[in-house]
Amino acid sequence: MGITTSYIHRWHDGEQVLLPSRSNELAVGKVVCVGRNYADHIKEMNSATPSEVVLFLKPSTALCDATQPIKISHLSHLGDMHHELEIALLIGQQQRILGIGLGIDLTLRDVQTQLKQKGLPWERAKAFDGSCAVSPFIPFSSNDIDLSNITLELELNGKTQQHGNSALMLHPIKQLLHDISSVFTLQAGDIVLTGTPAGVGPLSAGDQLSGYLNKQALFSKTTVI
Ligand code: ZN
Repeated sequence: MGITTSYIHRWHDGEQVLLPSRSNELAVGKVVCVGRNYADHIKEMNSATPSEVVLFLKPSTALCDATQPIKISHLSHLGDMHHELEIALLIGQQQRILGIGLGIDLTLRDVQTQLKQKGLPWERAKAFDGSCAVSPFIPFSSNDIDLSNITLELELNGKTQQHGNSALMLHPIKQLLHDISSVFTLQAGDIVLTGTPAGVGPLSAGDQLSGYLNKQALFSKTTVI
């Protein structure tokens, strides 16, 4: 496919994210994703509630900018492409949370269903080029953002399609980071997607997506093409 990824981490004001105390930009690393972290989504998928956190990875080549058109048409022959809106954490040095934003875990749902039935890994359904659209980030300071009370909302063509609150996570953010770090070392520039609430569904070319974190629009009327 050979997508030319021009993704870089950006702040909500449009500035690129730089390493603290240095002038170079923060590297773009891997994306660690969490599955089945909201009870309402587990129910809509008829999935079992896992006893431990379900983790999977997207490579850096999966990243794209959620404020730019989201390209899916070239994959339409593979079946439904679902949106999963998730709270995204941008990781800084010493595994600290540097920024908070939104990610869309784009999922080839029919492909995933077939892979699940065969007991095979999900990467073809979830880790392809452009499968992780992320918003610009809001700088994180624990003083003004309560990790256990963050709302997220996805509007599809002007109507609320997904909404949730980190309070409803089966594994809260602090615990997720602890669990993830015991498996994958989190490095500066990595992103963590923390799972999707209910309301996932298919996207079509021409759809428009807006994402809100604590009511703040982080992407607005992004077109699906
Ligand atoms: Zn997801």
